[in-house]
Amino acid sequence: MDSLIDNYNRELNYLRISITDKCNLRCFYCMPNKNLRLIPHDEILRYEEILRVVRLAVNYGMKKIRITGGEPLIRKGVVEFIRSLSGISGIEDISLTTNGILLKELASDLLGAGIKSINISLDSLNPQRYKRLTGGDYLAQVLEGIKETERVGFDPIKINTVVIKGVNDDEVVDFAKITLDKPYKIRFIEFMPTAMIDSWSEDRFLPSDSIREQIERFEKLYPVTDQDKSRPSRGFRLKNGIGDIGFISPISHHFCSSCNRLRLTADGKLRPCLFSDDEIDIKRLLRNNAADDEIIGQLKLSAQQKSRGHMIREDIFQKCNRPMSAIGG
Ligand code: SAM
Ligand code: SF4
Repeated sequence: MDSLIDNYNRELNYLRISITDKCNLRCFYCMPNKNLRLIPHDEILRYEEILRVVRLAVNYGMKKIRITGGEPLIRKGVVEFIRSLSGISGIEDISLTTNGILLKELASDLLGAGIKSINISLDSLNPQRYKRLTGGDYLAQVLEGIKETERVGFDPIKINTVVIKGVNDDEVVDFAKITLDKPYKIRFIEFMPTAMIDSWSEDRFLPSDSIREQIERFEKLYPVTDQDKSRPSRGFRLKNGIGDIGFISPISHHFCSSCNRLRLTADGKLRPCLFSDDEIDIKRLLRNNAADDEIIGQLKLSAQQKSRGHMIREDIFQKCNRPMSAIGG
């Protein structure tokens, strides 16, 4: 089978698809609080257009899909769309990243439709702080959603926590302690300088090593073996833990050399890296009856455009020009 291989010999077999840039939250580190331009409805890729891209990409080795956004669960028809994705032979894994607000009602349907694993974003266990960070009063609903996800049988369940110094770093141990009672994977993510937000600064940045040290002052962490190298999180466990603790370090230990991802934005742009504005407009082809070969050509071109690594913290780094919610986190 042909593969999508980039110029640095990385095989791109993981497609992250943003199905909407809209969201029912406004996390201050993700969505800009001013000048937020949402993509007009008719510019958003239709589900059948996304399915066509996936069917073609599968013939070139794409086997993992992540559905993300914005908040993917607010888009109408998402469960049926996922069911259609699952029907594409060659797709081995479909996962979802969500803020969890709608999981209580959708978890069972999502499992039935073929989602294999769920990442739920949660940055505070304190209701007031949660509201301040996200702009929404939904902590209880998210916690219910996580419970429901477990009840219907999702495994693994990953909780993603962006750690921001002076904002929620005092909750790191509380999050780690969840793994003493629950089989969840708690993953601490470094705060990244994404586009159009002015909330990132060096003094709000906490490297994973410091987060880890903070947990180890509470209790020693033991490495979990058998990790997939293409996964960005480094896994550990507390002595009596039943869940795992991971660290995603896109800045302090970036994983660009093993990155296997390509992204499809909600408005139909192929994007080889979160931090580069090299985008290829594939929607134009899809809407102009382009032949399959032309679309495959663009997938290959996008792979060729993938840079060796991001330039965060280097002199020439420039923030990308679109918010994380539009690109898909
Ligand atoms: N709305 C969904 C959610 O929140 O899970 C999916 C989209 S969101 C953009 C995907 C992930 O990106 C979330 O885990 C979020 O915390 C993360 N994220 C957004 N902005 C970030 C930033 N500046 N630094 C680190 N992670 C960020
Ligand atoms: Fe919405 Fe997710 Fe961004 Fe928060 S992180 S604003 S939930 S897209």
